[in-house]
Amino acid sequence: MSEATRVLLDESRIPRAWYNIVPDLPAPPPPPLHPGTREPVGPEDLAPLFPMDLIAQEVSAERFVAIPDAVRDVYRLWRPTPLIRARRLERALGTPARIYYKYEGGSPAGSHKPNTAVPQAYYNAQQGIRRLTTETGAGQWGSSLAFACAQFGLECEIWMVRASYDQKPHRRSLMQVYGATVHASPSPVTKAGSAILAENPDSPGSLGIAISEAVEVAGGADDTRYALGSVLNHVLMHQTVIGEEALEQLAAFGETPDLIIGCTGGGSNFAGLTFPFIREKLAGRISPEIRAVEPAACPSFTRGRYAYDFGDTAGFTPLLKMHTLGHGFVPDPIHAGGLRYHGMSPLLSHMYELGMFQAVAKGQRECFEAGVRFARTEGIVPAPEPTHALAEAISEALRCKETGEEKVILTALCGHGHFDLNAYDRYLSGAMEDFELPQDRIEEALATLPGV
Ligand SMILES: *Cc1c(COP(=O)(O)O)cnc(C)c1O
Repeated sequence: MSEATRVLLDESRIPRAWYNIVPDLPAPPPPPLHPGTREPVGPEDLAPLFPMDLIAQEVSAERFVAIPDAVRDVYRLWRPTPLIRARRLERALGTPARIYYKYEGGSPAGSHKPNTAVPQAYYNAQQGIRRLTTETGAGQWGSSLAFACAQFGLECEIWMVRASYDQKPHRRSLMQVYGATVHASPSPVTKAGSAILAENPDSPGSLGIAISEAVEVAGGADDTRYALGSVLNHVLMHQTVIGEEALEQLAAFGETPDLIIGCTGGGSNFAGLTFPFIREKLAGRISPEIRAVEPAACPSFTRGRYAYDFGDTAGFTPLLKMHTLGHGFVPDPIHAGGLRYHGMSPLLSHMYELGMFQAVAKGQRECFEAGVRFARTEGIVPAPEPTHALAEAISEALRCKETGEEKVILTALCGHGHFDLNAYDRYLSGAMEDFELPQDRIEEALATLPGV
């Protein structure tokens, strides 16, 4: 085992291909269905929303997809990202476990999301598209796509969940600095938004509503397409640059992982970190346990149902077979905005059903406690989302302290929390709440499943 604290790779080690896990699975995931006919969707159904290259990636049976040079060129701005051993955190915990984190917060937008925003903008620009629309919750995805659009000369129009729009004005500013137009969602500029506002003028919004708005606008204009920051197969595949680099870096540390932990909103950073390791596990070379951590306020894996549901609130998207809390579910206003989606990646949902990883749920106070502990030892203030993974890594490291086990724990520190200091203020002042999620609220939302 190496004495190093950080393993950095040369630019030439930026991966040359994304890894598609689908052909390596024992069975393929169930297909998305057309919301009207309930038949599997074809490329022509998706063409109004996505460029052809991304549709091809969504259904690809190739294990590796080459990363275009123009995309690798933008990746060079921050990739390869460092893999860091959390020696100071280990020491503070007094654990024999060794904790490694892959830090994605050094990207322009401060998270892993530009890993997919850049190729999405690139393929749209290649097809002659002029404008992209999207939704954003906490603003991480919106700022990533706004940055990527600026790289390829695309316009970018973003629907930002009202609650975040009001709470996080600086994420909005960042999107505008990159040149994007930002609407608070629900907005009066779409039919979906107007309908919600007519019912509830004070609606705090939700990701599902904002998706409906962005999809509506993209579907109605020939020169416009839609971009999604998580959930879909091609998004998860783009994020595998994280795991490919981490495989090489962990090997340079002289380590093999015993446990890999990631936070899950729609599943993209978790998939990006774990898929290359799962490939190695399926090949029999390593045997780590793999664990997803979700918020107790939005527990799609641990308390949702595995069923076909809409990706958005209005029911415009294809039906996706996934772990869902129901497309009408609006989670309590926890600070990890990126983890407040009612559904989960269909690919990860399928793998969870196959027993390929575990999932646990955590309340936000435990997570912020871990975030503060991490900041005071390792120096990086984590975004609220990865504090979920850190909280699990810390409780596992404390278990190792009891048993004396020298477990090698790997996690993705998928973003920094510099725009989330309000949330840290609330934690530090004692004002942060943990929300109970009663079963009848889940049942009520699940009652609206389309019943396929
Ligand atoms: C968006 C976001 C998430 C949640 O999305 P995933 O697709 O599950 O990764 C987690 N962490 C950060 C920092 C994010 O920006």
